[in-house]
Amino acid sequence: MTQAILIEKTGETQTVGLKEIELPPLAEGDVAVDVAFSTLNYKDALAITGAAPVVRTFPMVPGIDCSGIVRESRHPDFTEGDRVVLNGWGVGEKHWGGLAGRAHLKGDWLVKLPAGVSLRQAMAIGTAGYTAMLCVMALEANGVTPDRGEVVVTGATGGVGSVATALLAAKGFTVAAVTGRPEEEAYLKSLGAASIVPREELTGKPRPLGKERWAGAVDVVGGEVLANVISMMTYRGTVAACGLAGSMNLPSSVAPFILRGVTLAGVDSVMCPREDRIAAWERLASDLDMGKLEEMVTEVALEDVVSVAPKFLEGKVKGRIVVPVAPD
Ligand code: NAP
Repeated sequence: MTQAILIEKTGETQTVGLKEIELPPLAEGDVAVDVAFSTLNYKDALAITGAAPVVRTFPMVPGIDCSGIVRESRHPDFTEGDRVVLNGWGVGEKHWGGLAGRAHLKGDWLVKLPAGVSLRQAMAIGTAGYTAMLCVMALEANGVTPDRGEVVVTGATGGVGSVATALLAAKGFTVAAVTGRPEEEAYLKSLGAASIVPREELTGKPRPLGKERWAGAVDVVGGEVLANVISMMTYRGTVAACGLAGSMNLPSSVAPFILRGVTLAGVDSVMCPREDRIAAWERLASDLDMGKLEEMVTEVALEDVVSVAPKFLEGKVKGRIVVPVAPD
């Protein structure tokens, strides 16, 4: 038995709370992980609140991420005592997840934590930070370099946005941070943002082509904000799109693509192949300023995650939330 957040559904009514659960038996290829830390991401908030149909089967233990120590392994690549991190793969949606004292996970989903990244730092990064790294790698793969001009990050005070801002600034990019929270200017500048763009500048119906402003973009918002960003990319600029915090829609036109050669690079962390994940985690270990990461962190106890989750949907979470489960 272990303690876990459990989402249950009877008819149309969803209930969520801290419960004692019995994990399913460990199958061939599975690994039992003693969870040290978990975290809350936007998707966990959707699952816990029931605001979107993220959870596919009930009852469900949410938590798309966890870091911990291998307790028992039926997978050839892992042995007792390994430090591992889990991000995505439908965990917390279709498979019992990381907001629990212990998790039974497929070994194929796990990444051994690079030396130099602690179990706590792994969850300060979490899916949000690992996705930010995938976005930076997508910009690099498309030839976006600091000498090409300024880059922009939307939803900059959120989890993906905060880590993307810090990573890009550390790589020498001049970062414009788009936010609906101008009062967080000092926070964003401490992460490395060079300037703040009020969100209102990027809302409203986009023109097919706007003034050319940015060589690269990381967008977590979607909707009009993303469409406006696309219309303002410089010639052959690239937008890494990973989120829908504002909207699922994309009211854009083909003009930026066919007249400016703009690339819209989609980024998915959930089913991202293992080699790319390992590469992203290695890059996080080497590129992310762990002091800046710490500035992003708020700790929330496991028993409080249900009351904190709705804040994501109100756009009130700043940086990253770490949930200590059984820290050393
Ligand atoms: P988060 O911490 O809640 O950050 C989202 C940020 O977006 C907020 O902090 C806010 O920043 C801004 N925002 C919120 N509501 C908005 C609105 N209505 N209009 C415009 N901006 C708004 O969430 P997160 O964990 O960083 O995730 C961000 C998005 O990326 C989510 O949609 C999430 O599902 C998605 N995501 C996707 C992947 C993937 O694999 N593709 C992985 C991770 C996350 P400001 O207050 O600074 O404006």
